[in-house]
Amino acid sequence: MKTVRLSSILLLFCATLSTFATAQSKSEIRSPESVFGFVPGSDRQLVDYGELVDYLLELAAASDRVEMREVGESPLGRTMYVAFISAPENLKRLDELQEINKRLALDPAIPPDERADLVRDGRVFLLETLSMHSGEVAPSQSLPIFAHDMAITEDPEILGRLNDVVLMMVPCHNPDGMDMVVEHYREYLGTPFEGSRLPRVYHKYVGHDNNRDFVTLTQEDTRVIAALYSTEWYPQVMVEKHQMGSTGPRYFVPPNHDPIAENVDEGLWTWSAVFGSNLSRDMAADGLQGVASHWVFDDYWPGSTETSIYMGVISFLTEAASCRTATPVFVEPTELSGRGKGLAEYKKGVNLPDPWPGGKWSLGDIVAFELSSMESILATASRHRAEILEFRNDLCRKEVEKGRAEAPYYFVMPQQQRDPGEMGALVRLLQRHGVEVDRLTAEAVVGDLHLSAGDIVVRLSQPYRAFVKEIMESQRYPERHYTPGGELIAPYDITSWSLPLHMGVRSIQVDTRSEDLESLLEPVTAKDLLVEIALPDKLWALAYPSTSNQSYKAVFAALKAGRKVGRFTHPFGSLPAGSFVIHAGSATKDELRAIADQASIEPHFIESEITVPLMPVRSPRIGLVETYFHDMDAGWTRYLFDTYGIGYRVLHPEDFEGADLKGDFDVIVFPDASKDVLTQGKYKRFDRYVTNDYPPQFRKPISKKGLGKLTEFITGGGVVVSWGESTGLFTEGLPMPKNGEEGETVELPVRDVSEELKGVSVPGAFLAVDLIPDHFLTWGMPEKAGAFSRGTPVFATSIPVLDTDRRVIGIYPERDLLLSGFIEGQEQLQNRPSMVWVRAGKGQLVLFGFRPQFRGSTPATFKLVFNSLLLPPVN
Ligand SMILES: [Zn+2]
Repeated sequence: MKTVRLSSILLLFCATLSTFATAQSKSEIRSPESVFGFVPGSDRQLVDYGELVDYLLELAAASDRVEMREVGESPLGRTMYVAFISAPENLKRLDELQEINKRLALDPAIPPDERADLVRDGRVFLLETLSMHSGEVAPSQSLPIFAHDMAITEDPEILGRLNDVVLMMVPCHNPDGMDMVVEHYREYLGTPFEGSRLPRVYHKYVGHDNNRDFVTLTQEDTRVIAALYSTEWYPQVMVEKHQMGSTGPRYFVPPNHDPIAENVDEGLWTWSAVFGSNLSRDMAADGLQGVASHWVFDDYWPGSTETSIYMGVISFLTEAASCRTATPVFVEPTELSGRGKGLAEYKKGVNLPDPWPGGKWSLGDIVAFELSSMESILATASRHRAEILEFRNDLCRKEVEKGRAEAPYYFVMPQQQRDPGEMGALVRLLQRHGVEVDRLTAEAVVGDLHLSAGDIVVRLSQPYRAFVKEIMESQRYPERHYTPGGELIAPYDITSWSLPLHMGVRSIQVDTRSEDLESLLEPVTAKDLLVEIALPDKLWALAYPSTSNQSYKAVFAALKAGRKVGRFTHPFGSLPAGSFVIHAGSATKDELRAIADQASIEPHFIESEITVPLMPVRSPRIGLVETYFHDMDAGWTRYLFDTYGIGYRVLHPEDFEGADLKGDFDVIVFPDASKDVLTQGKYKRFDRYVTNDYPPQFRKPISKKGLGKLTEFITGGGVVVSWGESTGLFTEGLPMPKNGEEGETVELPVRDVSEELKGVSVPGAFLAVDLIPDHFLTWGMPEKAGAFSRGTPVFATSIPVLDTDRRVIGIYPERDLLLSGFIEGQEQLQNRPSMVWVRAGKGQLVLFGFRPQFRGSTPATFKLVFNSLLLPPVN
């Protein structure tokens, strides 16, 4: 039997909370320990998602202070919940309180008397999302203790807080990942791999990037959480709870570090600072050392759950130092460091007034910090109940008024779009975020701009103005420096998220206000967005334009159904070159409808046979390379392929040696992955290989023999599609090892010159790309396009020798390279190839210098991936 050991801090803390649990406490309310057999937070013990939820459901059945509501489903089908914790009187009138939240959040014109009543009757709703990153187990593990304490306490002070506040605790933001991590931990407990990271992504697709999805809302769990704050419950305060590395401060609380988003109202920053200061003070009072603020985490980029701050929610994150899942670590004092902006040294300072001295650090310690933090946030919300409710409505008024008083006033999306399917998707996405979207009912003229009936108009005069502005405009990074003329404060994450640019939708910013235009607007309804397809009885083929991403959905469905598909090599009527013809053949009307229903655009109907020559489209057999190294880009690629109905088989590095690549695949896709992980099974830091802690079966690289097979696959007529770091496998020639030796190399007329370029930094920006016209790979794309780039690789090609060839498909242009975001040293990228096609024998490679499917958020360049998959063989 394992001994249950808790850190002394946790014991101390639990004692304070439970002091007031008197004999009156309800005996049927069982403690977490009595249910799980251990106190959550104990060394080497974890509760899984089912156990967590079962406990909370039992608690809800026994206590009138806890109510569990189902709010949606995770990507792998687990039910997601919110645990509402509050005074019974509040839980009895949740619907009424929800209505008050909505009025305060969205109604800028509440009469003063009524507003006073709403503020009097309303409660602060405090949404906390726990452990979205599944390796960061402590927040979810803490909830049973916290919820139990809230259910049994008789402390009048805490009961008063529960009267002021309705807690909305999401027990686990990522239930699928939680179970994966707990299962992995249990499997390797007591082995040398105890506490190792999960070898794959802890999510159906995106792993850690689930915290990068709150603008594009591609994943089901993201949509469930976003709806809680944007369109369902309108909480006034939101906290997302994370963990970080082991060797810095113990806990991060707001305020964040610069830069901050300039579109966000100043009041939101000062309110998050109020919560942060109270956290620092309360946690210190609980005897917890090492709380830091104004450090590392900036608040510039939207995409995390904190994106709710752009919608008027006082929103922030907390981060606790980690142990190894549930296994304690010992941190030597000399291993502690400041790591990054706001804390150059690990020393006493205003951002870290009481540094932790080092020592043992366990899950129990983290749980103690979490419990203290949850308590403190509740106390602050309670203390400022009326002010917070008033602030929310003040902000609503202010944003609506700002939208009337200062430019920009509207973003207009004309009906005529290159890819109307993406405009429809953008409108639906905006509505999902709770943004008001209108359409013009008649023609209108604003300044030089002539608008047509049906054009989409997004007004800035609305409660979520800051969000609308942020995601509809192009980004200019707020450059801030540590000292005047000194070093620039670098961004924490990417710097571009402009939805029109990323989705390839034409959007016009209007800086002139027009009351005429406003009088012609009506809200876009679901019916307006509905595409009804009435198939004629007589049909020779369905045709789809190459310009629309949706066309490819229909095409992949048709190929899967065994239908014959061809492409126009030249424009045909209104259809541009590369457009698709799906032959009806012997298909019934229902079978054709099933194909057409895949795409949310209307096809062209070709009723009788046409005789123009068509290029046949084969159904590609695709291998998708995914390592076990938390390979998020591969996960996003799986998401893209699943969304577009593209079949594929995942290839792990160790599969290459034994696989029949030539027999089983036409195309092998290498998403972004380190060349060192692919070929050595290790990361390289500077000049040193670093072994990961995964069990060895998850660290196997592509062997020399496997690389040889890959070369044979290519030269024998296979297609490789590659972007990001994995292009490094192909920019130094193709290896042809013989009998385990290095052997010859097939030289290719392309190399990566990014290491030769000095001073280039692209943290993630949207850059202009000039594409060559009339090429198979660029069919459907504009010649002047934009693409998401992280700066590397940058290609140089050369005159081909032997049986090879190359074609530069895209270049970074000489002028106006930066479309959105931040870049340093852009002159070094100008006029360089950013996308290259290469031939070696009968084989073909498509190498991208930009990220054509970055985090599922760049539909503007999806077609380049799809065309690569459909590349016809070399004759
Ligand atoms: Zn995290």
